[in-house]
Amino acid sequence: MKIAIVGMGVAGGNTLRSLYEKNAVRPSDEIHVYEDRLTPGVGLPYQPDDDRLILNSFSMDVSLNPDDPDEYVKFLEEHYPGRFGRYEFTPRMIFGEYATQRFAPYLEKEEVQWIKKRVTRLTPILSDHHPDKLRFCVQVDQNRPGEIYDAVFLAVGHPPYADYYGLKGQPGYIHEPFPVSHLLEQIDPSKDRVGIVGSSLTALDVMEYLQESASFAYPLTFYTLHEPFATVKDTLYEGDEVFCTFDDAWIEAHRLPSGKIALDDVLAQFKKDLSDSQIHLDYIMEHFGTGSLYEVHQQLQQADEQLLKFQYYIALLSPHMTAIVNALDDRGRRHFFETYRPWYEYFHVQLSKVKMEKIWKGYLNGTIRFVREIVVIEPAKDKGVVIKTAHHRTYHADVLINATGFETRLSYAAAEDPLIHSLLEADLMMPSPQQDVAITWPGSQPLSRTYGVVDNLYLSGFWIGTTQYPNNNVQRAAQQGARMVDSFKKNNHR
Ligand SMILES: Cc1cc2nc3c(=O)[nH]c(=O)nc-3n(C[C@H](O)[C@H](O)[C@H](O)COP(=O)(O)OP(=O)(O)OC[C@H]3O[C@@H](n4cnc5c(N)ncnc54)[C@H](O)[C@@H]3O)c2cc1C
Repeated sequence: MKIAIVGMGVAGGNTLRSLYEKNAVRPSDEIHVYEDRLTPGVGLPYQPDDDRLILNSFSMDVSLNPDDPDEYVKFLEEHYPGRFGRYEFTPRMIFGEYATQRFAPYLEKEEVQWIKKRVTRLTPILSDHHPDKLRFCVQVDQNRPGEIYDAVFLAVGHPPYADYYGLKGQPGYIHEPFPVSHLLEQIDPSKDRVGIVGSSLTALDVMEYLQESASFAYPLTFYTLHEPFATVKDTLYEGDEVFCTFDDAWIEAHRLPSGKIALDDVLAQFKKDLSDSQIHLDYIMEHFGTGSLYEVHQQLQQADEQLLKFQYYIALLSPHMTAIVNALDDRGRRHFFETYRPWYEYFHVQLSKVKMEKIWKGYLNGTIRFVREIVVIEPAKDKGVVIKTAHHRTYHADVLINATGFETRLSYAAAEDPLIHSLLEADLMMPSPQQDVAITWPGSQPLSRTYGVVDNLYLSGFWIGTTQYPNNNVQRAAQQGARMVDSFKKNNHR
């Protein structure tokens, strides 16, 4: 068979690795890996960049080897002796070195060829000899013929950055913030009024890099829609037992005659778990439920036992969320995404204490400020952008850095990404009810109006974020690489 893997980040790397580890490769196979980054395995987040960008998970939690949960810790002991402990957040770039070391040997395999190009187009091919068998033409240059493959793994990671204010291409607007070590080339700190739109983890990366790399004539300003933050990740919770009852057995026991589970049953169990664990949600919401700077300050002053306990509960719940969300009936699933998703993500995404301490310090000494409730950002007449708030205040930024995240709405993203555009145009994928890509689960194959379940096309990454939910961490990306290979093996009787 001729097989293509498009993208060589953590998901693509683990797809390649899993093909070998799960004995899915035959001597007659040809495997082509498409990736134009020069360092394999790192993708966007772990590429060579500033070492102040740190992982948001403890080093003990990010092993890429399911058989050895301590593999990354051992890598650190070997390559950076005495520098990082198990409960530390290491530079993302060092994790990238580990990922490269882990995946690069598979690129040397006899069947594998690494094509250092970006794929721009993927189209379906139906052969006269096998009218039922779909194959795929992969092109890196639209003016040249592509290669034909029997199976394609799309491990392309992240959609394009969102452009909610239509500023892309505008002078003074930096649409793509990474690598952050290039930002200062575009900014003159002694003159520019610099702003960051958004207050996500990306915004914190940008802030940290800029604040420590140069001294600014004007305060670095975060422009946000609401209160800027979530909760702070402090130390590991080590108190009384916390009960999280959700697992596969729980889901099986709660299936209705339809085979699905009811959101009401999930919510009732959630409340019971909290009560059994003596976690008081009302208290947590009252003290830490808005993401305000004041709440962050409270958390920095003293770790709150209830919050630590609840964050620990969320960490226990998270590995089961994909199974729960996919088992929900349609109404429950819709209701979950409309009503509970923002709330869940607020507690799921936790902010590093070290970073938040720096923000607080910057806020106190006037080098950082916050402008909330922005309603409009538009090009300024002379230079940069103008930001208007709901309170009729107007601000000016000479340079505005985009930290609003990725555009996961398929129809919008397709306009920016030629590969995705070609897939939509050829009807090899279609939007899910949440507007990302509809796939089978756990098969990971796109659904299409023309082809039904698209045979031998597999998808991972942010594009499937409401099916593999939540999938914004390295473990999930690696798992998805392995899961796509399981599906491939099953479909091809290997
Ligand atoms: C800024 C940032 C920081 C993060 N930090 C953390 C963290 O600290 N901890 C954590 O657990 N998770 C973190 N994440 C989550 C992250 O999504 C996953 O950890 C993981 O990197 C996802 O892996 P991936 O392989 O799906 O995507 P990526 O790592 O993005 O890899 C996708 C690869 O596909 C390639 N590609 C894309 N399109 C094409 C094409 N058309 N042709 C050829 N190649 C293509 C890209 O060049 C890239 O190398 C972070 C995410 C971001 C964006």
